[in-house]
Amino acid sequence: MNETYDIAVIGAGMAGASLAAELAPHAKVLLVEAEERPGYHATGRSAAFGEECYGGPDVVPLTLASGPYLREHGMLSPRGALYIGRDEDEAAIEAFMERFASSGVSIERLGRESLQRRIPGIHQAWRHAVSEPACADIDVAGLHQHYLARARAGGVELRCRAALAAAERDGDGWRLSLGSAGEARAGVLVNAAGAWADWVAELAGARALGIQPLRRTVAQLRTAPQPPADLPLVLDISGAFYFKPEHGKLWLSPHDETPCPPCDAAPEELDVALAIDRFEHVIDWRIEAVEHKWAGLRSFAPDRLPVYGFDPGVPDFFWFAGQGGFGIQTAPAAARLGAQVLLRLPRDAMTEALDEALYAPGRFV
Ligand SMILES: Cc1cc2nc3c(=O)[nH]c(=O)nc-3n(C[C@H](O)[C@H](O)[C@H](O)COP(=O)(O)OP(=O)(O)OC[C@H]3O[C@@H](n4cnc5c(N)ncnc54)[C@H](O)[C@@H]3O)c2cc1C
Repeated sequence: MNETYDIAVIGAGMAGASLAAELAPHAKVLLVEAEERPGYHATGRSAAFGEECYGGPDVVPLTLASGPYLREHGMLSPRGALYIGRDEDEAAIEAFMERFASSGVSIERLGRESLQRRIPGIHQAWRHAVSEPACADIDVAGLHQHYLARARAGGVELRCRAALAAAERDGDGWRLSLGSAGEARAGVLVNAAGAWADWVAELAGARALGIQPLRRTVAQLRTAPQPPADLPLVLDISGAFYFKPEHGKLWLSPHDETPCPPCDAAPEELDVALAIDRFEHVIDWRIEAVEHKWAGLRSFAPDRLPVYGFDPGVPDFFWFAGQGGFGIQTAPAAARLGAQVLLRLPRDAMTEALDEALYAPGRFV
């Protein structure tokens, strides 16, 4: 198999699948995935929420621009979010309000009474909160399948069990070795390899940007009482935990960010224990069982913003990486913008407010 494509996208997680779908009407695209099935790594392990402040003010435009597409395609269920704090966290709560004041998100301060009403059983010490009512659960598998189906309908060829092993410049494009999945040629090589993004860049002769995978752990708990179905996503204002209900169970994370080489990440007992200990300082529910636990890698560029655009040093090498902890909620706008930048297409209603320079790899030169 040594066919020629306009574009080869490496990685079929949310990033690669969504970008391939957006490229499909304009180009002959190959979508390459090392695993047996797409979505095995970060995409299949997310906590499945879209929270407008998550990722910071420079990620907000991508999240807001993605909202209408996610809603139109039925991917969102209302949840609401509360960032909570104790008296000693009041300065952090104020700083949070200020940081997002002109970002376009709608947030408001809440006091003890509202907290008690929204989170039954919360300890007295937790008296301050910021409410972000637009927060929603995202149907992550549904969104990923939606993009894979759109890509397939547009003629994209998906090759699984195909790990990019070598990439060499060949005339105007690339000669790609995909291990036992054969070879391919492509005009443009797209790096949507998630935790492996720096590794893929070096394979193609580009400078690594310092994209660091950080492990994040989630545990599914059986609690007494059961979390109410309308419990909001609850996040510690100081970033020590978050939790949300999921079909009568509780998903709890210690909000860990442990640097980790790219791998099939697994949860550490200590991180689960830490999460439970922190949770027990928040709320008086009994934890009856840890039913399930998992970990995944969230990959961050040094400034924690995503990287979309052509490499400044290597021709026809396009970055679509560094999706951090917001790669699901930003997927629609990120993919649309990525396709427009790659194909030099005009902006549209979804992307007109986005500043592509914020996310360009050239910012690291
Ligand atoms: C625990 C956890 C909770 C999260 N919660 C949320 C959330 O609530 N909301 C949100 O928006 N985001 C969340 N995220 C972040 C989100 O999951 C990621 O930003 C997103 O999935 C990244 O997608 P991706 O396609 O870049 O990476 P991945 O899904 O990891 O896909 C990259 C793919 O590239 C493939 N690949 C790598 N190297 C090669 C190669 N050489 N050849 C071929 N293929 C290769 C890999 O096999 C992999 O499938 C969370 C992440 C974690 C881990």
